[in-house]
Amino acid sequence: MSEPTCVIVGASHAGTQLALSLRQGGWAGRIVLIGDEPVNPYQRPPLSKDVLSGTKSLEHIPIRPASVLESAGIELVLGRRVEAIDRDSKRLTLDDGSSLVYDKLALTLGAHPATISLTGSDKHGVYYLRNLADVEQIQPYIDVGNSAVIVGGGYIGLEAGAILRQIGMRVTVLEALPRVLQRVTAPLVSTFYERLHYQKGLHIMTSSLVTSIEGDEYVERVFCADGSEFDANLVIIAVGVLPNTGLAERAGLRVEDGILVDEYTCTSDPDIVAAGDCTRHYNPIYRRRVRLESVQNAMDQARTAAATLNGNPEPYHALPWFWSDQYDVKLQIAGLSQGYDNVVIRGNPDIGESFAVFYFEGDRLLAVDAINRPGEFMLGKKLLMQGADINKARLADESITVKELLGA
Ligand SMILES: Cc1cc2nc3c(=O)[nH]c(=O)nc-3n(C[C@H](O)[C@H](O)[C@H](O)COP(=O)(O)OP(=O)(O)OC[C@H]3O[C@@H](n4cnc5c(N)ncnc54)[C@H](O)[C@@H]3O)c2cc1C
Repeated sequence: MSEPTCVIVGASHAGTQLALSLRQGGWAGRIVLIGDEPVNPYQRPPLSKDVLSGTKSLEHIPIRPASVLESAGIELVLGRRVEAIDRDSKRLTLDDGSSLVYDKLALTLGAHPATISLTGSDKHGVYYLRNLADVEQIQPYIDVGNSAVIVGGGYIGLEAGAILRQIGMRVTVLEALPRVLQRVTAPLVSTFYERLHYQKGLHIMTSSLVTSIEGDEYVERVFCADGSEFDANLVIIAVGVLPNTGLAERAGLRVEDGILVDEYTCTSDPDIVAAGDCTRHYNPIYRRRVRLESVQNAMDQARTAAATLNGNPEPYHALPWFWSDQYDVKLQIAGLSQGYDNVVIRGNPDIGESFAVFYFEGDRLLAVDAINRPGEFMLGKKLLMQGADINKARLADESITVKELLGA
């Protein structure tokens, strides 16, 4: 009997972790990892941080050194896109017309930037920011004294804006909603970031709806619905991402804003698992289905998927966590704050750059945003993972240290 083949489609955080965990967990057959980007799997978060600033490049950010994949016997197929899955014959068709048969299939397809339809968005100098290839297109426009407009005041837009500002560009962030980070944080955290960027000389315009981009061949100006206009040599559109579900949909798998997976990462086909940004899954801590966009989820879900494929299923119940770096400010988030109705704050968000916000629904802790507060992040993680209660008055009292709270 020939050895079983597991094919993993999508060679990034989830795909690479899945391949390695699969081998470590005892899979003796072939493992083929296919990715449509032409380079070895690399970490995506630095793209809006050290790679955009030019302080790091591809060789500094491998997810794992190529030698690790090689010695695990993982066959890496790069620069190839899987176009179709025939589930009856368990055969994949690739974009060069070749085909590949699988016994088990893993989809780690990730996400792609949400687009906005704008006159002029096809001009040189207007880009999205998801892949290394996007950064390579952006970099020639980065220069001291040039002007950049970032469309979207979410994490990626603000991180990119901070880098360009530090390089010495004039930067304006245009956000359609009344405050930055509105979908993910409390108003006081948005206010903190608006102040931080203002102090660094970056302009944030909220409630600003971009209507068109003008210029000849190259972008020159961005116009908003209220008639305001902004000079721009570079425009980065960062208005969120959408899961890559087309391949799964065409194959008849269940998709609802993400490939639907159960707690073992199985899709509606028992021979196909999925992990990472492309999935929607049930989170037992929050008792609802979520679609997450984070390295933590990609890696942890991939480990669960590998265990499932190796015949050792363990339900996925990881606590979501995330981080964002802007200037010298590190934000660490544990949990999901949606649905909160009250907060407890440690530190003063109006002064300095260090405080933490604990989000509660009634007395139940949902999440923590820790700004330059690694201790509070650890505390929040521990409480959330244990489902433990915390006395809010003690939590708010900064004379009680994190260590004491952790001890309690
Ligand atoms: C600029 C930026 C900054 C970020 N910063 C942070 C951060 O600070 N912290 C954090 O936790 N997260 C951050 N993220 C999010 C994080 O990078 C993602 O959550 C993570 O990359 C998800 O990993 P993934 O493997 O699920 O998907 P992806 O990284 O999207 O990888 C999917 C891969 O599959 C490929 N693919 C898709 N379809 C096919 C196909 N049919 N055939 C072959 N290949 C295919 C894609 O091209 C891609 O290479 C950031 C993301 C970006 C873009």
